[in-house]
Amino acid sequence: MVTSRASSRKWLEEGILQHQTLAHRALLAVVLAVMLIGGRPCAAEELPIAEKAEWHVGVASAKITPEQRLHMAGYAARKEPAEGTQQELFAKAMAIEDQAGTRVVFVTLDLIGVREELQSRVAEQVEKQFKLPASMLLMNASHTHSGPAYEREDAQGYLNSLVDTLVDLVGRSLAERQPAELSYSFASCSVAMNRRTPSQHGFLNHPNPNGPTDHTVPVLSVRNPDDDSLRAILFGYACHNTTLGLLRWQGDYAGYAQEFLERDHPGVTAMFMMGCGGDQNPYPRRELKYVELHGQSLATAVEAALESDQKTPRHQRPIHGNLSVVNETVDLEYTTAGREDFAYPIQVIRFGDDLMLIALGSEVVVDYALRLKSELAKPDGPAIWVAGYSNAYNGYIPSKRVLKEGGYEALSRPWKLTLEERIVDKVHELVGQLPPPETNDASR
Ligand SMILES: [Zn+2]
Repeated sequence: MVTSRASSRKWLEEGILQHQTLAHRALLAVVLAVMLIGGRPCAAEELPIAEKAEWHVGVASAKITPEQRLHMAGYAARKEPAEGTQQELFAKAMAIEDQAGTRVVFVTLDLIGVREELQSRVAEQVEKQFKLPASMLLMNASHTHSGPAYEREDAQGYLNSLVDTLVDLVGRSLAERQPAELSYSFASCSVAMNRRTPSQHGFLNHPNPNGPTDHTVPVLSVRNPDDDSLRAILFGYACHNTTLGLLRWQGDYAGYAQEFLERDHPGVTAMFMMGCGGDQNPYPRRELKYVELHGQSLATAVEAALESDQKTPRHQRPIHGNLSVVNETVDLEYTTAGREDFAYPIQVIRFGDDLMLIALGSEVVVDYALRLKSELAKPDGPAIWVAGYSNAYNGYIPSKRVLKEGGYEALSRPWKLTLEERIVDKVHELVGQLPPPETNDASR
């Protein structure tokens, strides 16, 4: 098969690359030894690992559980404010810098979504205080339905302190930058099930084991170059974070997956990035035990991805090269006459020729991830990771199919049928704007 031969070649190349990296390090060690024997002073900044590190990565975490009694976001049926905390809510940041000094910062949030006011206030302060352009900031929400409704009038005090906390968090992640190695790997987790079931009364919000899903668990691992120990994990999954709807704060399955990974890897920061899970639910639901079970399933899948990363070159990609980022909006049209188009954010972050992350705004259904991965994947090209719920939160983003079929995800906004083509065309346009990886990849 052509595909498997092409994949084998990629693995082989990666194997060669690893050997080259080892040989390169051995050479540096010899050079350093000669310098020491020769009696030349060797300043700390000349240490080979620090000097030659391809990446510098910093991570930081902050608790964002409300201390006051606030209403909870996500389920209209809950009329009362939260009564307590089942699990702390967190915001986490990962600052990644390439050899050319280009920086991106990922911020992941145990919140319902990244509302416009939150995104713009944080981005503005981050740009002002740390000179990080807004285009280089990716904010992703886990879509837990057990976090605060921070847009409400009675939550403005919380929102103000949340903005301050996130700006400080980004600053700390930038200040924490240390030499790092990055790699990408993935595994699979079957917690997500499609939740659109056809019936004679239209599409019902009901588990549909025959519907499309994306069970991929993409994992970006950050390791310390000196001893190869794990420092941070950024992982994704495409499934509503809605196992529970109690009156207690908690991060739902994504919160528990992060907690379990951090418990099992002391000192490691685990960050969750929501994928295109708009029409996916975790089943079974509505019992506390299932939140933990689903969280454990996802954490176990991340462990599987880490294991394949460590023990065989076959499913890992060491990440080399430079960062390239484009971040633009595309106008999405409503059918309602006179309603202003929605400026929908799309961010593309490419790591050399090894990983390309497409971050889409709002509640994107799974069709987008499946389509974009199939259209953008090349046999020797970068791994494709598609995230949803990033940088904006403005209802569901149905595909053309879902919009035509109708049902829950099709009804949240009166989108025109052109929605999917506009988004997908814009993604291809932005990918086309990135510089060729050969010219920005200094390491090969
Ligand atoms: Zn939702």
